[in-house]
Amino acid sequence: MSFDTAALQAADKRHFLHPWQEFESLQEHGALVITRGEGCHVFDSDGNRYLDGLGGMWCVNVGYGRRELAQAMAQQAETLPYYSTFTDTTNSPAVALSRRLAELAPGDLNHVMYSCSGSAANDSAIRLVHYYQSRRGKRDKQHILSRKSAYHGSTFLASSLTGRYPDAPEHYRWLTDFIHHLSEPNPYRRPDSMSLEAFTNHLVQEFDDKVAELGADQVGAFIAEPIMGSGGVVVPPPGYLKRIRERCAEQDILFIADEVVTAFGRLGHFFASVEEFGIQPDMIVCAKGITSGYIPLGATLFSDEIFEVISKPGNDPCFEHGFTYSGHPVACAVALENIAIMEREHICEHVQVEGEYFEQQMKTLAELPYVGEVRGRRFMIGIEYVADKDTRALLPEELDVSHLIADACQQRGLLVRPMGHLDVLSPPLIMQRSEIDQMVSILRDSILVVGAELDRKT
Ligand code: PLP
Repeated sequence: MSFDTAALQAADKRHFLHPWQEFESLQEHGALVITRGEGCHVFDSDGNRYLDGLGGMWCVNVGYGRRELAQAMAQQAETLPYYSTFTDTTNSPAVALSRRLAELAPGDLNHVMYSCSGSAANDSAIRLVHYYQSRRGKRDKQHILSRKSAYHGSTFLASSLTGRYPDAPEHYRWLTDFIHHLSEPNPYRRPDSMSLEAFTNHLVQEFDDKVAELGADQVGAFIAEPIMGSGGVVVPPPGYLKRIRERCAEQDILFIADEVVTAFGRLGHFFASVEEFGIQPDMIVCAKGITSGYIPLGATLFSDEIFEVISKPGNDPCFEHGFTYSGHPVACAVALENIAIMEREHICEHVQVEGEYFEQQMKTLAELPYVGEVRGRRFMIGIEYVADKDTRALLPEELDVSHLIADACQQRGLLVRPMGHLDVLSPPLIMQRSEIDQMVSILRDSILVVGAELDRKT
């Protein structure tokens, strides 16, 4: 099939407002039109082939061109494309997926609500916190603790949980009366004089102080990505999540793990909270990799304890929340097949080996000029660029170093995601060693070429 790139780009500029659109760059360059995918590669409208360092957007976990997923989708659409799941109606893919998620999820997270995105799944989590606390007679426990630099989505509620908008407060409004942001747990950006242990103590103390200030009887939940994704691939200091989790349990505060990125294999487990970080959350939010991005689906998993409280008889209980497409049969059928592929092909085990290799190889880039830190875990990596490795001072914004390096990668056949002072990688989980080596080599060349340009400019 051939495409008219110029015509597509022109119509795109006129009619399609993309997520997080940077208006000037789109007007200048036009969008990259992706037309096809195969394994770990995507192709553009001019036939150029790229290694997909992004996995679409942290999500195409089992790779492109999966006939099994297309067939699951087609078969379900022919049998039953849709029926409402409101109140007392259900469908068999939604039931089967719910049972499967309960088996895969850690502990007693045996219940699930569905939505169409990670943002909406986080909204559902917060609405459930409020309803649960109210139903157990703790109506005042409505405050939510989040963190600066967190990314929880783009709906009004999820964007309010998000702590990533320090630069543009004048353009938007957020819910501020019950959402509070603690410091981001970024070891690389901790004060020079502070040990890692002191930094962790400081973060835990800040949590305690905030709870004391608000009153534990006012705080309903704490929400955290186990590794912050869009906020800069921030791996928290050792023990931080465990200690906050303990504090939550002691003070009757729910712990919500936003695993929209980290679930479904990215770190080598179906869910990372327990296996990677040793924490058992009260709720886990997921999306993206649950269907490998083939169709939108969000899921909010929650515990037996929460279910027992909200479903207790009395006063005709009803949790007034849910969507037309909650438990959509086609999306649930795709998720089931995606899980089956992951199990058949031992994707988590593959990530535990090849993801480890990827992480090690990526970390060798830290020796290059302008690379301040390479951080992350397995198939979730960020490269932070700095002007000075000792002081960790950033390069001037206008140099836009992450875009320059992403562009250089693109010219060499690799797509990475520029994000502030970082380039981010979250490739399909099926990557083989040769593809990993190719990725690292392209990144190395691109960083060196752009670095040489920066030497001339600065
Ligand atoms: N939570 C996390 C951790 C995310 O990374 C994202 C998206 O990148 C979201 C929530 C929002 O998901 P969605 O874009 O599907 O609404």
